[in-house]
Amino acid sequence: MIQINDHFLKLRASYLFADIARRVNDFTEANPGKEVIRLGIGDVTEPLPQACRDAMHAAVDELGERETFRGYGPEQGYPFLREAIARHEFQARGAEVRADEIFVSDGAKCDTGNIQELFATDIRVAIPDPVYPVYVDTNVMAGRTGPDRDGRFEGLVYLEATPGNGYVPELPSEAVDLIYLCFPNNPTGATATAKQLQAWVDYAREQSAIILFDAAYCAFIQNDDLPRSIYEIPGAREVAIEFRSFSKSAGFTGTRCAWTVVPSDLYASDGRGGRQSLHALWNRRHTTKFNGVSYPVQRAAAAVYTPEGQEQTQALVRFYMENARIIRDAVSDLGLSCVGGDNAPYIWIQAEGSSWDFFDRLLNEAGIVCTPGAGFGPCGEGHIRLSAFNSRDNVNKAVQRIRSALA
Ligand code: PLP
Repeated sequence: MIQINDHFLKLRASYLFADIARRVNDFTEANPGKEVIRLGIGDVTEPLPQACRDAMHAAVDELGERETFRGYGPEQGYPFLREAIARHEFQARGAEVRADEIFVSDGAKCDTGNIQELFATDIRVAIPDPVYPVYVDTNVMAGRTGPDRDGRFEGLVYLEATPGNGYVPELPSEAVDLIYLCFPNNPTGATATAKQLQAWVDYAREQSAIILFDAAYCAFIQNDDLPRSIYEIPGAREVAIEFRSFSKSAGFTGTRCAWTVVPSDLYASDGRGGRQSLHALWNRRHTTKFNGVSYPVQRAAAAVYTPEGQEQTQALVRFYMENARIIRDAVSDLGLSCVGGDNAPYIWIQAEGSSWDFFDRLLNEAGIVCTPGAGFGPCGEGHIRLSAFNSRDNVNKAVQRIRSALA
C-alpha cells in the first residue's frame, strides 16, 4: 500500500476550537435562552466597502462582453493592482518596493504556509510562542521537526513572547536560518518599534538569515511612529519577505485577496555554495502552483486605493479600533493587565488563573466566549484573547456583562 507523508501524523488535531465549541454547547444546553456573545473570533463582521462592490460589479460586466472578456490572467497579479499596492502601501511611506516584487495571492495564510517550500529541510527555524499556528504546522508537514513534546516540536527554536519582554521576543541565543515574525501580532496584539525591528534586521544580516514578516494587521496601527512594513527599516530588503492581506483591513475574508513581497535583493545559498534569487524562486513556484486571483476580486482590491475606497476602508478600521478601545478600557478598569487593542484588533489579557479556567468563568458568569491563550502555544497559558471584530451592539453588551461578572 502507498505510504503517506508520516510527518502529518506529528500534528495533533487542533482541539482548541473543538473544545471551545463543546464547552459553549454544554453552556447553552444548561442555560436555554441565555444569549452567548462570541468575542473570540478573528473574522470580520462588517460588509464589503461600496467602492469594492462597485468595482467588482463593473469587472463582472466586463467579463460578460466579448470585447472586454479576460481569460487566464498573470499569476503574479494584474499590473493595475501590483502598481497600486506598491505606490500606496510602500512608496508613499518611503519604503522601496517595486510593483514587480509584489505577488498577489488568495491569502496570507496560503503564502505564509507555502513560502517554506523555498528552503532546505535541514535549516533552523525560529517561530514565536504564542503563534499563528500556520507557521508551525507547515514546517511540521515539511519534515523540519521532530515530535511534539508538551506543545513544542523538537528541532524548532521558540521565540517567547511574555509579559517580561512586553510580548516582543528577544533575538535567539542560537543561530537560526529562518525567522517568523508577526506584528501587529496575532494573538497578542503587540507591536514592534522601528528599533526592535532594526535589531532583527541587523541580526538576520549578520547571520545570513531570512525574516518572514507577517504584517496582515498593519492597517490597524494607529501610532504613526510604529513601522507598518519591515521595508521601512534600513537593510530589510536584503533579508525580509513580507506578507499582507486585504482580509481584515477591507473585509475580504470571504472575497480573498492578499499579497507577498519578495524583494529582488534577496538571495539564499544553494547546495553547491552558489547564490540563488528568492524572487526568481518564488516566481517559479507561484506561476507553477497558483492560477492567480480572479479578475473581479483584483478590481475590487484595487478599488481600496481610490479616494472613496480609502475613506471607506479607513472607516472600517476606525470602527473595529473603537470596539477594541471599548474592550480594552473595560478590561483595564477591572484591574486586569492587557496588551493590544491600541494598534491591533486583538486584546491579550493576563487571566486570573489558567487560560481555560478564565474561559469557563467568562462563559459561565458573563455568557462571553473568548479564545484561551494556551491554544496558541505554551507561552499563551495564563492569557486569553478577545477580538474587536464584532458589531458595536455585541461589544457594548459584552463589556457590560464582563464588568458586572468580574467587578
Ligand atoms: N496572518 C495572520 C497573523 C492572521 O491572523 C491571519 C488570519 O487570521 C492570516 C495571516 C491569514 O490572512 P488571509 O485571510 O489573507 O489568509
